[in-house]
Amino acid sequence: MLKSVPLVDRLSDHTLLKLQAYINGEFIGVADTPVKNPANGDVIAAVPHLGATEATRAVEAASAAFSGWANKTCKERSAVLRRWYDLVVAAREDLAIILTSEQGKPLSEARGEIDYAAAYIEFYAEEAKRVLGELLPSHRANARILVQRRPVGVVAAITPWNFPAAMITRKIAPALAAGCTVVVKPAPETPLTALALAELADRAGFPAGAINVVTGDAKAIGLVLTTHPAVRLVGFTGSTQVGKLLMSQAATTVKKVALELGGNAPFIVFDDADIDAAVEGAMASKFRNTGQTCVCTNRVYVQDSVHDLFVQKFACKIAMLRVGDGLDANTEQGPLINERALAKVRAHVDDALSKGAALVVGGDGHALGGTFFQPTLLQGATAEMLLSKEETFGPIAAVFRFKSEDEVIVAANNSAAGLAAYFYSQNASRMFRVLEQLDFGMVGINTGVISTELAPFGGVKESGNSREGSHHGILEFTELRYACVELQG
Ligand code: NAP
Repeated sequence: MLKSVPLVDRLSDHTLLKLQAYINGEFIGVADTPVKNPANGDVIAAVPHLGATEATRAVEAASAAFSGWANKTCKERSAVLRRWYDLVVAAREDLAIILTSEQGKPLSEARGEIDYAAAYIEFYAEEAKRVLGELLPSHRANARILVQRRPVGVVAAITPWNFPAAMITRKIAPALAAGCTVVVKPAPETPLTALALAELADRAGFPAGAINVVTGDAKAIGLVLTTHPAVRLVGFTGSTQVGKLLMSQAATTVKKVALELGGNAPFIVFDDADIDAAVEGAMASKFRNTGQTCVCTNRVYVQDSVHDLFVQKFACKIAMLRVGDGLDANTEQGPLINERALAKVRAHVDDALSKGAALVVGGDGHALGGTFFQPTLLQGATAEMLLSKEETFGPIAAVFRFKSEDEVIVAANNSAAGLAAYFYSQNASRMFRVLEQLDFGMVGINTGVISTELAPFGGVKESGNSREGSHHGILEFTELRYACVELQG
């Protein structure tokens, strides 16, 4: 029954469903490119397919709006962000329905994402008032060293489909709070959430050009955003491969580049862990968003003596997961985003089985068809398998058996990625020992849930070079200006 209701009829505020790009305070363009619901393949809406011309207009609009926005007082900027936050919170249910309809995640998770996305706006509305300068000790008696933090300028934000709301607000709320103006290029799978956020920003009273959202041709828009001289920072969340490309393009005009890229998280269960808590943590970090998060567990390492118990308990939980349309209230696992994602998940399972892994639960497409895949548990995983080297981005949990702490630290760090890692232990000395040796930007100790606007989110190695969230997140969008002030007389 749910599936037969058109998206627009599900929403209490129909004008929230924007089907045009947002440039210089106006919704523009012809909605000609379909957006599909991954749960059933239905076309739910269409948005404009724009290119270099419109991206250039958006950058010019953001550039023209920059000084007006940057020169507002921090309290004025804060007030507009706060109004945006209030509007997002008020539209929570409609935004969650839009998000699930285009992305597929269970509605409960979509509501959680809207809360998470809104929290960044709220946090940075407050943090706008705390971008501090310094008066440093001087090298001369009659001179003063004054250091100011200035907004970097026009910011480009290129975002993925797996968190259609939060990956946008996590970048643009701090950028706007710092005094920057922004041009967003959302993922083609999930433009509706981005445009609904733009509509709410418009109602909140951001000046024309402060926020722009351009949908369409990624390469053409991306080339403008990474090479136009007016863009001073390129913020990108997405795959490591595309991140490297954008970084090289941005080098031509020496822009700041803030990258939040892919992960391949290890999840380590030591023999002194609370096994039930570890199973709960593994479920949360592996199966959230059907395994399609950058901080999702990809490699589960379990110590020899607790291996069988952990696998047995983990298998029971995985087998109970309810798969279905995200708009159905019972659903815990939605579809994968598209056929490409399904093919990758299949390839990882087939490769692991061909190299000696054993199937414990699932392992195949789901009876619902389409891009639904069975939540899957494999054991006997090894470093030679694809899932050890690449991010699976799907509901596949692969268990590796290990003997010693030293051995598992080497194995966990044996990855080009360095985003999130998790481990379970009740031994305080081990906690510090292991934490200090893990080469990752974020570590969950006795928890599988680490994302919050209050902490600096980000990775090391090929997982990126920036931090989003906390007071660190706003500093990315500022640069230092130093003045040497000579006292006369
Ligand atoms: P993706 O393929 O890299 O795409 C991300 C965005 O980049 C999309 O909007 C995409 O648009 C755009 N894009 C692709 N090629 C481009 C180009 N040449 N110029 C400009 N834009 C371009 O990644 P995804 O599949 O959407 O997202 C999944 C990846 O994101 C995973 O690796 C995941 O780990 C990572 N991720 C990281 C974080 C983090 O915080 N570290 C958070 C979430 C996700 P088109 O699709 O139109 O090409």
